[in-house]
Amino acid sequence: MKHCPTCNRSSDEVRFIGEFCEVCVAEKASRGMKEFATISQCRSCGRIRTPEGYAELDKKPLGDAIKHSLKLGPRYGLKVLEYDNLGVKVRFNYEVEDGERVTFERRVRFKKTHEMCTDCFRRRSGYFEAIVQLRGDKFLIGKMFERIRAYMDKHGAFVAKAEEHQFGVDVYLSDKSVANEFFKERDLKPERSYVLFGMKKGKRLFRNIYALKL
Ligand SMILES: [Zn+2]
Ligand SMILES: [Zn+2]
Repeated sequence: MKHCPTCNRSSDEVRFIGEFCEVCVAEKASRGMKEFATISQCRSCGRIRTPEGYAELDKKPLGDAIKHSLKLGPRYGLKVLEYDNLGVKVRFNYEVEDGERVTFERRVRFKKTHEMCTDCFRRRSGYFEAIVQLRGDKFLIGKMFERIRAYMDKHGAFVAKAEEHQFGVDVYLSDKSVANEFFKERDLKPERSYVLFGMKKGKRLFRNIYALKL
């Protein structure tokens, strides 16, 4: 039977990892851990920032954001058990040495900062990268417009605006690569042209124009 040099618990009572009992090992692993985690939340859509981008507020993205904010090393795994407005209850899983792990639970409080995510900012400012000029049959134009809108929504892009003309509709899209995917997937071959609209870090920026006859 062993006794923990720190707390005097015996190996009959608790598991030991090396010389110390797991209670003291867990205590040591959580020592110095920050009490607050900074969570950046979009004030418009409520999504939170994670190292992989913005995500809906939920346990997994919260875990990623917290791990990042607390600057925990690779030995720490964590799982968010529950959360509310002020913080989360987290189960940490710490690797002491090869294979040996110790778990402990802790409450981590939020320090929330509010910002606007790129998507919301773009929506609000009317940002667009491409214009699709739908021409031809009015009924087909309406159908195609709905298809484009549904596709944009599904792929994280959006219709910034739509303008009706005598000969059809101009649809302004937030993301030209999503627009390209749409045409490719449907095997549509619009006539393409490009207009220069600015410079960014020394590179010329183009907007794509697609003319599609229906
Ligand atoms: Zn101990
Ligand atoms: Zn947002």
